[in-house]
Amino acid sequence: MMNRIYMDHSATTPVTERALEAMLPWFREEFGNPSAIYDYGQHAKNKLEECRKRIAKCLGAFQTEIFFTSGGTESDNWVIRSFCRANAAKGKHIITSAIEHNAILRTLKQMEEDGFEVTYLQPDSFGHISSEQLEAAIRPDTILITIMLANNVVGTVLDISSLAKTAAKHHIKMHTDAVQAVGHIPIHVRKLGVDFLSLSAHKFGGPKGVGAIYCRVPNRLPALLTGGGQERELRSGTENVAGIVGMTAALEEAIEDMDQENLRLTKLRDCIIEKACSIPGVALTGDPANRLPGFASFTVEGIGHSAYLVNSLNEVGISVSSGSACSAASREASHVLLALGYDAKHASSSLRISLGKDNNDEQVNYLLNVLPDIIMKLRIEYAKNPTMIYSDLPQPPDLFD
Ligand code: PLP
Repeated sequence: MMNRIYMDHSATTPVTERALEAMLPWFREEFGNPSAIYDYGQHAKNKLEECRKRIAKCLGAFQTEIFFTSGGTESDNWVIRSFCRANAAKGKHIITSAIEHNAILRTLKQMEEDGFEVTYLQPDSFGHISSEQLEAAIRPDTILITIMLANNVVGTVLDISSLAKTAAKHHIKMHTDAVQAVGHIPIHVRKLGVDFLSLSAHKFGGPKGVGAIYCRVPNRLPALLTGGGQERELRSGTENVAGIVGMTAALEEAIEDMDQENLRLTKLRDCIIEKACSIPGVALTGDPANRLPGFASFTVEGIGHSAYLVNSLNEVGISVSSGSACSAASREASHVLLALGYDAKHASSSLRISLGKDNNDEQVNYLLNVLPDIIMKLRIEYAKNPTMIYSDLPQPPDLFD
């Protein structure tokens, strides 16, 4: 098999060596259930509390403010469902942005079915939401504002601390989905000023299926999962001890390496942006300045759907993603790009390249060497057959990760 080049770190990352080493004993020698009172159990319980303290330190939080979950989706669901239901007597209005991940948007759709009202703020063309916009949307019955810290389709880092100030001024609780940001940019929850923050280990070198929620004291969230009473009665279910240990090691590693790694990734990213944008019909999406360090995203004209580009790059050994889902029957455009003002044609031709630890100059040069020819070939194909449908694609290559 040819050497594959992985450039889709926004979808997921490989578990780092350090995280894996830290996890291994907790699968076998130290496999105890943290709820058990004998030594096996107590070792696991102590380790969990140590991890909670270390994760809290990484985020500038208190140990009691961190709850472990199964990842970003669960953390997002927990805040929205539990907080809003518990506070429905105060009001049933929620504010969000139109560019959130589906873990937020689809959960809010269900809340609407349950009688809540949701305002979807429209961002500017870079993906920013202003404090003035937020201020104008706040109503006496607004109980929660949920706006992401960094966008997963265009890489824009939003000014959450300004938005959180506006929320606090009106005594409204603020949640941020920081799944794409944690481990990639410096985060201090008190400086951000949010009440709730979601994170997910597999986006920063930890394992899949584990995450956390920061829940500022004293905003206790009612339980989403009930059962054995783990996580101080708020999130039942036997804890994923090895996963939590891996997440902790990965986050500490990401933070220790961040300054140096971000300089390196920003340089590689800017090289990709400069060269890709010199190809006619290729344009950067998202904020050119306030963006995630390893994140380059584009629209590519004249290729029909970006799934073709993702497949062609896959054939030459490069894994990247499109920012839009597609299916055999329909050509679905990215809801993020549509919200940013792109027409359906551009919104279905987006390309996302997200770099990580394992990428280097040589790989970036290889990508930049093959990219112009691949785009040209696809344009020739598409020009010959502009009505081509997408049933010939093996599978939907992307689901808004
Ligand atoms: N929120 C954002 C912004 C994401 O990018 C993702 C991951 O795809 C999620 C939430 C969901 O996280 P998880 O995969 O841990 O459930």
